[in-house]
Amino acid sequence: MSEIAHGRYVGRFAPSPTGPLHFGSLLAACASYLQARQAGGRWLLRIEDIDPPREQPGAARLIIDTLATFGFEWDGPVHYQSARLTRHRELIDQLVQDGYAYQCSCSRSDLARTRRGPLGAIYPGTCRKGSKGHRVAIRALTDRQPITFQDGLQGQQSQCLEVETGDFVIRRRDGLIAYHLAVVADDHDHGVTEVVRGIDLMDSTPRQILLQRRLGFATPRYLHIPVIVDEAGQKLSKQTGAPALRCERCGPTLVAALEALGQSPPDELAEADLADIWAWALRRWNASLLAGKTSIAGNDYPLAATRNGLS
Ligand code: GLU
Repeated sequence: MSEIAHGRYVGRFAPSPTGPLHFGSLLAACASYLQARQAGGRWLLRIEDIDPPREQPGAARLIIDTLATFGFEWDGPVHYQSARLTRHRELIDQLVQDGYAYQCSCSRSDLARTRRGPLGAIYPGTCRKGSKGHRVAIRALTDRQPITFQDGLQGQQSQCLEVETGDFVIRRRDGLIAYHLAVVADDHDHGVTEVVRGIDLMDSTPRQILLQRRLGFATPRYLHIPVIVDEAGQKLSKQTGAPALRCERCGPTLVAALEALGQSPPDELAEADLADIWAWALRRWNASLLAGKTSIAGNDYPLAATRNGLS
């Protein structure tokens, strides 16, 4: 019987191997892990390696080793998204056949002229009535029906996709599968019941829910946790120069992550063994301490310092 049939919790951490883990990614890993383990659920590790141009050689291995050194224990084998491309393509074909996706032959320069909104370019639906050309992207058809969901930490969220993003790409012109399609497919097939991830991905959720509905998949529960930002309000990320997590002093780094996640660990916990830190965290984990919080000031966490001098 599947995990879903049991009604059991399945969570996951799904890093892209674009570089080593940094303090911000540790927060997402910790929050999803503690949430799953405290519920007595399973926790999966999925490497989202479907965008080779953005990937760094060796990053997947490094991420896995770093997580293991920090004491994370995932259930089952590590999943690689790149091993599931046939399934992704089948689902895209199904969406096209059902009239929920279509080919788009717009060129880069056509797209550069489209109107932009807070979520990026808003595709005006140019190719809805048909497209010519052979190097085409595939877009999911959106509509004006608002997509609303109740985020476990950030409250009710709603988007009208046709107005806010327009029809969005699920297979790129270069043939690569887009993130939204792959994440929906894999979360569903792995029986994921709760997605805990950074708030920077919250805007993507309605597009993912639309795909779930079109494909007849259940929508998991979502919890979007705050992200570490610098003084300019920019998210700490590989792109903004976040330093790689170092494994020599995992304990204090893990305790700093718990502190950043609002769990108020006692100072002396930083000197404890990793196993004791995890035991404390599992006993005390309370996601609701993050309710409504959208950012964490990087300055408060020297470990989150960026190379260009934050903190
Ligand atoms: N692979 C995405 C990232 O590393 C996360 C995807 C997700 O959690 O839905 O940002």
